[in-house]
Amino acid sequence: MLPRRPPHGGRVGFLYCPPWRVQGISVGGEQTVVQIPELDINFDIGMCPRVALAAPWVALSHGHMDHIGGLPYYFSQRTFQKMPGGACVCPPVMLEPLERMLHAWSPVENQQTPFKLVPLGHQEMIEIKPSIYLKAVEMTHTVPANGYVVIEHRSKLREDLQDVPQAKLKQLRESGEDITRTLQIPLVAYSGDTDMNQNLLGEDFCKSKLVITECTFFDEGHRQRARIGNHLHLNDLGELLEAWEAETVVVIHTSRRTRIEQSREQAREFLGEKAMERVHFLMDHRRNKTRYEQQVEDASLASTK
Ligand SMILES: [Zn+2]
Ligand SMILES: [Zn+2]
Repeated sequence: MLPRRPPHGGRVGFLYCPPWRVQGISVGGEQTVVQIPELDINFDIGMCPRVALAAPWVALSHGHMDHIGGLPYYFSQRTFQKMPGGACVCPPVMLEPLERMLHAWSPVENQQTPFKLVPLGHQEMIEIKPSIYLKAVEMTHTVPANGYVVIEHRSKLREDLQDVPQAKLKQLRESGEDITRTLQIPLVAYSGDTDMNQNLLGEDFCKSKLVITECTFFDEGHRQRARIGNHLHLNDLGELLEAWEAETVVVIHTSRRTRIEQSREQAREFLGEKAMERVHFLMDHRRNKTRYEQQVEDASLASTK
C-alpha cells in the first residue's frame, strides 16, 4: 500500500458581492483572514496566504493565533517584495505585546523589518482610503476584541440650504461658513470572533451593506459550547439576520469538523429558504464557484444586449 498524499488545505474562498470581492481563508481555530481588495484591507491575517500581502491595511480583531499568526510574515514579506507601507490596526491592549513580538523577530531574522501598529479603541476611526474610514466596534470574546465597520464619508449640502441659489451658497462659503454636512455610510462590517452582544445590533452593523460574520456552532446541542467559547451560534445568526439590513451576509469561522454542506443545510432548515438568499459561506468553494460562473454569464448576457 502506498502512503496517502497530504491533504490539500489553504484554498482561498472567494465571493463577488458587488461592488466588493470577499476573499480569504477562514476555518475556526485554524486561520482567519478576509480581504476586501477594493477597500485595501484584510480583516485579520490568519497565516498570511499570498493573497493577503496585497492589502496595505490589516485590521486585527483579537489576539488568538488563528487570527494573527501571519502578522510578522506579512510585514517581512511586504518589505522583501518592496511593497510600500503596510499598517496593522488592533485593539489598544494588543499594542504593546504585538510591538514586543515584532521587535523580537529582528535578532531572529537578523534584520530590521519596519512595521506600523495603530491601536483603535471602541468607536474610534482612522482613514484608510480617501473618504473611507475604518471604525472599531467592541465585541465580546474570551479576550479583548474589536469588530470593524468600514464607513464612507460623503459630503452633502446642508439640509437647510437645499433651496438656496448657487450665488448665495458661494457667498456663504466665501464668508467662511461650512455649507456641507458629512454623511456617514456604513459599507462593510466584520464581527471577528464574538459572542452575541448589543454592538452587533447597533446602527453600524445594522446599516452596513455587507456583513462578514463568524458563526462557529450550528448544532442545536452546541449552544452551550458557543457560550463557553464566546462564539456565535446559528440561533444568534437568526436573530442578527433580522436586525441587519445587509443585502449580503458572509459567514466565516465555520468548523473543519463539520462539512460545509452540512452547516449550510442546518442553516437552511433553521433560517428558511428566503433568508438563505442573502447568506453565503466563504468556504463553500463549490457553491461559490457556481455562483460566480453564473455572475460571469449574467454579465456577458447584459453586455451583449
Ligand atoms: Zn478564531
Ligand atoms: Zn478567538
